[in-house]
Amino acid sequence: MSDRTDNRISRQDIPWFPRIDERRCNGCGACVSFCPHGVYAQVDGRAEVTNPYGCEVGCSGCVPKCPEGAISFPSLTDLMKVLRTLRAKQGQEAR
Ligand code: SF4
Ligand code: SF4
Repeated sequence: MSDRTDNRISRQDIPWFPRIDERRCNGCGACVSFCPHGVYAQVDGRAEVTNPYGCEVGCSGCVPKCPEGAISFPSLTDLMKVLRTLRAKQGQEAR
């Protein structure tokens, strides 16, 4: 997706990207191969999130691809709260 979800909200303001539990990651690379946006890279035999804001807001397609259950995201409820807050703030600033 582009850097902005609408005309005003910057992608960098939206905390939506995967987190990896390093204790679980076995370095299989399934997440690296699966993500079409290059969010992951293999570093020293393990996956790392090297391009977090390349992650498509609301996507969590890579979660079931991880055989170790090492990938997690914030809840969609929390995402919606953040988006509402950002939109409200933008609305106030536009006045
Ligand atoms: S799919 Fe899971 S176990 Fe495999 S590299 Fe990615 S995070 Fe690690
Ligand atoms: S949720 Fe989608 S866009 Fe984000 S890292 Fe996973 S596969 Fe890539």
